[in-house]
Amino acid sequence: MAFEGLADRLQKTIQKVKGKGKVTEADVKEMTREVRLALLEADVNFKVVKDFIKRVKERAIGQEVMDSLTPGQQVIKVVKEELSDLMGGEQSKIAVANKPPTVIMMVGLQGAGKTTTTGKLANLLRKKNNRNPMLVAADVYRPAAINQLETLGKQLDMPVFSLGTEANPVDIAKQAIDKAKEEHHDYVIIDTAGRLHVDEQLMDELQNIKEVTTPDEIFLVVDSMTGQDAVNVAESFDEQLDISGVVLTKLDGDTRGGAAISIKAVTGKPIKYAGMGEKLDELEAFHPERMASRILGMGDVLSLIEKAQDNVDEKQAKELEEKMRSASFTFEDFLEQMQQVKNMGPLDELINMMPGANKMKGMKNLQVDEKQISHVEAIIQSMTKKERIDPGIMNASRKRRIAKGSGTSVSEVNRLLKQFDEMKKMMKQMTNTSKKGKKKKGLM
Ligand code: GDP
Repeated sequence: MAFEGLADRLQKTIQKVKGKGKVTEADVKEMTREVRLALLEADVNFKVVKDFIKRVKERAIGQEVMDSLTPGQQVIKVVKEELSDLMGGEQSKIAVANKPPTVIMMVGLQGAGKTTTTGKLANLLRKKNNRNPMLVAADVYRPAAINQLETLGKQLDMPVFSLGTEANPVDIAKQAIDKAKEEHHDYVIIDTAGRLHVDEQLMDELQNIKEVTTPDEIFLVVDSMTGQDAVNVAESFDEQLDISGVVLTKLDGDTRGGAAISIKAVTGKPIKYAGMGEKLDELEAFHPERMASRILGMGDVLSLIEKAQDNVDEKQAKELEEKMRSASFTFEDFLEQMQQVKNMGPLDELINMMPGANKMKGMKNLQVDEKQISHVEAIIQSMTKKERIDPGIMNASRKRRIAKGSGTSVSEVNRLLKQFDEMKKMMKQMTNTSKKGKKKKGLM
C-alpha cells in the first residue's frame, strides 16, 4: 500500500498530542521534528517539507490552537488541513470545453502508464460523467503502442483513431479531432509518444501537437514509484508544455508517497487522477482532503461509500436483506455477496478506508488472506446448485467431491459448512430479537 510507512509514523506522532488538554511550544516542536523526518523519509521534496513544517508550527503555536478547548485535536486538524492543502486542497475537476469535443492530451515518459491511463480515463468519463470519448493513437514510435491502445479500445468497446505508424503524429491528432466532431464524440483523448528521458525532439513534437489541437487539458502521467524523479519530470514537462494537471499512476504499489505530496507544491499543477492498479476501472479522481485523511489514519468514508455505490446493486442488496431476515440466505447469495465486495478492491485497502481501523485491536497488522477467500469461493463454486441451496444434503462423498473440485480439503469444506450454519443461526437470532424489539415498541 502506498504511504504505509509515512502513515504509520505520522499516526504515531500525532497520537502523542491527540488527547492533550494543553499543548506547549515544546510539544509542537517535538511533533514537527518527527513529522519532518517522516516526510523526508517518504521522499518528499526537501523545500516542500521545510515550508510545510513552518506553516504547521506557526499555526500550532498560534491562537487558533492555544485558545481552543481541545488543543491536542486542534493540532491534528492543522496538520491535516496543511497536508491536504499541500496536495492541492480542493479536488480539481476535469475541463469541459464550451464547444465539444473537449481535447485531452496525455503526455509522459515511457512506462509511466500513459497508454493504460488513456483507456482508464475514457472508461471513467463514460461511467461517471456519461461521456462518449474517442481515443487517439498518436504514439507512432513505441512498438506496439498502437496495438495496445486498440486492444484497450476493444475491451472498452470504444473507437480508437489511428493512421498506423507511418503517419505524422500532428496529422493524426488533427484528423482525429475532425473525425470526433463528425461522429459527435464529446471527449478526444490523445495518447502521445513517450521517451525514456525528456528530450528536445519529444518536446518539439508535443508542442506541435499542442499547437494544432489547442487541448483543453494536458495531463502528465507520472509513475509515483519513481518519487523525486517524478517531480523532476513534472517540472520539465511543465516548463515546456504548461501542463494542466498530473495523473499519478501506481499508487497501489509500495510507494513512499513523496511524489504525491510534492508535485503540487513544486509545479503548482494539481493532481487530477490516481491510478490504483492495472485494471481498466482502477483510476480514481484525486481528492487531496480524503488522501490526507487516509494518511493520518482518519479513514476515507466518502470513497468507501462511493465504491460501494459503484459495485453493489441496490436492488440485489435489498433482496439480500430480505433473505437474511427470513433466514433463507443460501450459499448462492453468499457467493454473490463475496463477489460484489471483491469488485470493490483488495480488502486491506478497504479496511484502510475505515476511520480508526489502524487502531482497532488486531486490525492494524491484519493481513487479509486473499488466498483463503478464494478457497471459500472455490468451495462454493464446486457445489451443485442443490447443495448451495440446501447444504443439509451434504454427505461424506459429496464433501470429498467438493474438496477435490476446489483443490481444498474435506476439513476446509467442513469448516465452511459449520461457519455458514453458525452465521445462519445468528441471522435468525438477530431477526427474532429485532422483531421482538419492534413488537415491544408497538411497531408491528
Ligand atoms: P506507457 O509507456 O506510459 O504508455 O505505459 P503503459 O500504459 O504501457 O504502462 C506500463 C505498465 O504500467 C503496464 O504494465 C501497466 O499495466 C502498468 N500500470 C499503469 N498504471 C498502473 C497503476 O496505476 N498501477 C499498477 N500497478 N500498474 C500500472
